[in-house]
Parts: sequence; structure tokens; C-alpha cells
Amino acid sequence: MRLLPSYVQDRWYTPTGDGTPVYDAVTGEEIARASSSGIDMAGALHHARTVGGPALRALTFHQRAALLADLATHLRGHREELYALSARTGATLYDSKFDIDGGIRVLRHYADLGLRELPGGDERLVYAEGPQESLSRDGSFLGGHVCTPLRGAAVQINAYNFPVWAPLEKLAPALLAGVPSLIKPATPTCVLTGRLIELILESGLLPPGSLQYVCGGAGDLLDHLTEQDLVSFTGSAATAERLRTHPSVIGQAVRFNAEADSVNCSVLGPDAIPGTAEFDLYVDQLVTEMTVKAGQKCTAIRRAFVPADLMDAVGEAAAARLAEVVVGAPSDPAVRMGALAGLAQREEVRRCVKTLLDSARLVFGHPDRVEVRGADAERGAFLSPLLLRCDDPGASAPHEVEAFGPVSTLIPYTSPEHVAFLASLGRGSLAGSVVTGDPAFAREVVLGVAPWHGRLLVLDTDSAQASTGHGSPLPGLIHGGPGRAGGGEEMGGIRAVLHHMQRTAVQGSPRMLAALGGRAPEER
Ligand code: NAP
Repeated sequence: MRLLPSYVQDRWYTPTGDGTPVYDAVTGEEIARASSSGIDMAGALHHARTVGGPALRALTFHQRAALLADLATHLRGHREELYALSARTGATLYDSKFDIDGGIRVLRHYADLGLRELPGGDERLVYAEGPQESLSRDGSFLGGHVCTPLRGAAVQINAYNFPVWAPLEKLAPALLAGVPSLIKPATPTCVLTGRLIELILESGLLPPGSLQYVCGGAGDLLDHLTEQDLVSFTGSAATAERLRTHPSVIGQAVRFNAEADSVNCSVLGPDAIPGTAEFDLYVDQLVTEMTVKAGQKCTAIRRAFVPADLMDAVGEAAAARLAEVVVGAPSDPAVRMGALAGLAQREEVRRCVKTLLDSARLVFGHPDRVEVRGADAERGAFLSPLLLRCDDPGASAPHEVEAFGPVSTLIPYTSPEHVAFLASLGRGSLAGSVVTGDPAFAREVVLGVAPWHGRLLVLDTDSAQASTGHGSPLPGLIHGGPGRAGGGEEMGGIRAVLHHMQRTAVQGSPRMLAALGGRAPEER
């Protein structure tokens, strides 16, 4: 069986040993094995610091931005090949576009942002943040903040559900800041990420040492972190906790960003009764969030909060829509929902649903039965969309259990304060939404739930056509959330670039501060 290679110290490396099997999500066939055995992790990090960092910092901010734009164009030319591999992860063409085109869009966004917001000319190293402050009566002594690229490596550990978007949304801001990346994919979908990395390297655009790739386990990678390195992690809260408390991360105060799991909610306003456009928007969005990527989105709606007297109506309308969803082989154009990433992931979802069913009942679907078009329902990781209903809003499982698949639970609420309280039981979420035509209700809910959320969508008929939807993180907006969601922030425009830089307060005379360059935003 083919052992997948890694790319370290500017060379492809094929490991030895048995490796971990990687399966086709649709057929269940083993397609490759992943292993990082024999990789010199300390050497890889050293290479990033001593070769990649200097090579990137030799480029100006605008040259790095141009490089991102060229990379986006290069990858765009190879989308079909990536879509084909993506289908083997269970993704429909729509899902693949979400992942692949979405990732390319992030590259473009950061390319534009670099030209717009970062210093031009021959500036390579410094970004002046905010206005300078006079620290003396006569103005001869000023203070300000400058940001300079960290001199370490950006270790980027990704989850399996976005094998293209996730590595690209971490790579883009690191590269723009001038910090080399070491990418680790999640094993279940590493075949697709591996091909992405090959395409990036084949482009010849990246300077030496600026991108390394470790396929397979992380081994002792984190043991070799130093204080100028940073870690960007996406995955489960349990792994986030393990890595966050790693002795090197704690001992060297390594900058650590986590995007972890999240029991996101969507609130239907009491004004949005059946027959209103907002009612339909709510149901459409719920079904979309359940079925895109077979619900394997960290931002997907897990808790659907509905006024108590609308529970039956929402359940019936959503069930009718879900009944139209064709599940099956992603290559079949009639299929709306593909497979989960693998059989292990399906077993995990079934286990979570079993727990949820202790306090809820099924409104649509069955965890062990699904009609599948063009594939074998058992060999492939197929699962029916599962809509649950929990009539006890105080039950703990719906607020705690993240079934990472096409699963949502309807939960009743009685007032804006009540729904804000229920939202908080998720202990911190990535994304939430409120669907209402009533601005006063929207305000009450948004202000009540905002401290528990990284991003909130208020959906009404005015914005429905243009809305990007509940589950789509956007490069200009923060992606992350407090508490259980990891307590991190990714993207959010320039914030993600600055995350890879050290902010330093510098004091001195106007002449000395001017010599530092990196013009302040208001002077650009
Ligand atoms: P996971 O099991 O936590 O794995 C995430 C990543 O961590 C994988 O690359 C994994 O590698 C790696 N990893 C595991 N143990 C490690 C260790 N000791 N040292 C270094 N790396 C280690 O999560 P997953 O199953 O891939 O993804 C599903 C979860 O991710 C869900 O809970 C979902 O909510 C969450 N998620 C969150 C976001 C977000 O933006 N917040 C986005 C997507 C997914 P291996 O695969 O090789 O084990």
C-alpha cells in the first residue's frame, strides 16, 4: 500500500513502517497509508526558522501578497483534480467548492488585504499599529506600537473536515506576516491535503523553507517548540486541551490558537410564524446546515431554538425538506448529501446520537438506516440526516454533545432571556444565528448571546439574497469562539496577520520613531 510522503527541509520524504490506513469514504476501500515515522521534527522546525523565515522576510509585504495572489491563480487552475480527490472524502461537488474554492478565496482576500493594509515600498519587517502618542509636553518624546514577524515557525494542525480550506486559511496570514509554515493535516483526509501541498510546491512560487508538511502523527514535534514558534490548532476540544497543556507550549509561552468544537445554535424569532418569509428562511438554513458537508462543519447548527408553540410546525417543515435530500455517491449529480469522512467518524456520530436520544426523540431519519444512491450504504460512511426534538430545554445532552454529522436538535424556548440562557449552556460557540423580522428581538438576542459567540448572523428578508449563511466563516471576519470553541481567533482580516507578529511598544523622539518605518494605518 502506498505510504504518503511528507515534505521536510525542502525534500520529499517517504516514511517506513506500516502507517495508518486512509480510506475512501464512499467505497470503504483503503487507498493509502499515512506515517511520519523517521521524520526529524526538530530539524524541520530548525529549517523553518533558519531557512524559511529569512527567505520570507527578504520579501516585502507586497511581494508576499503578490505571491498569495499567484498561488490562488495556480490552484484555481487545478480545481478539477482537487474536486475529484475531494469526492473520495465523501464530499459532493457543492461541498468541495465550499472547501476548495473557499480556500482559494481566502488566499485572494489576504493578497488584497496585504496590498491595501500593509506597508508598501521596500518595507519587509515592520507594521506600525495605531496612532503614536505624545509622552511629553513639548512633543519630543513619543510612544507607539510596532509589529514585527516572529522568528519561529507556525505549526498548523488541521481537522479532517476541511482538508483544503483549513490549511490555506492558516497559511495565508502566516506567509503574509513573513513566518514559515509547517502544516499537519488530519489523517482521514490527508490524501487531498497532500495533493494540495504538491500543487503549491510544484508552482515554484514559495521561497525555500517557507512551507513544510508532515503527514501522519505529530510525533515529538511539539517537544521542540521554542518561544518564537506558534501553534494554530483546529480539531476537537479534547485534543486542544492536550496540546494547550503540552509542557513546551506552557514552558515557552508558545502562542497557541485553538479552533475547537462547538454546539452552535440558531434562534427562530416569535414573529416568524409559518407563512412568513423568515420561517422559511429558518427552515431552509437549518436543512442546509445539516446537509452541507454531511453536517461535518464546526459551525453547523446543532441546537435549533424555536418558540415553544412553533416546535411542531418547524419539525414538520424541516422533515418535509429533509425527505427531499438524496444521500449517496458524491459523483452522482442528483445527490445532495455525500458520506461522512469515514466509518470511524460515522460510529462516533451514532454514539453521540445515542446519548442525545436519552433526552430527545427523532423527528426525521434513523441512525442505522439510510437509502443511498449509487453506493453501498454500509461500506461507505453514509448516514441519514437526523433531526431530533428535545422538549426539555434544561436537559444537558443537547447543549453538551456535538454529533459531528448531519444532526440537529429542536429545543423550545419561552423568551429572549430564556434563549440567551440556553445558548450559554453551549459554553462558548463559533457561530450563531437569529432569524427574525423584528429588530428589537434581534437586538435582545444578539446582545444576550454575543459574549458566548465568535460570530453571529442576523437573518431577515432584507439580507437573505446576499447572505453568506450561518455556517460560512469569512476571511474578513473573526472565526473562533470563547470557551469550548477554543477561545481563539482566526482570520478577521489583518488581525490574523498580526497574530504572527510581536507587538512592541517603542518610545523615542519623533526622528527615531520615523526611522523605524512601517507607516501607521492613517498615513497610508
Ligand atoms: P481531532 O481528533 O482533535 O484532530 C485534529 C488534529 O489534531 C488532527 O490533525 C490530528 O491528527 C491532530 N492531533 C491529534 N492528536 C494530536 C497530538 N497529540 N499532537 C498533535 N496533533 C494531534 O479532531 P478531528 O477529528 O480531526 O476533527 C473533528 C473535530 O474538529 C470536531 O470536534 C470539530 O468540531 C472540530 N473542528 C473545529 C473547527 C473550528 O474551526 N473550530 C473546524 C473543523 C473541525 P491525526 O488526524 O493524525 O490524529
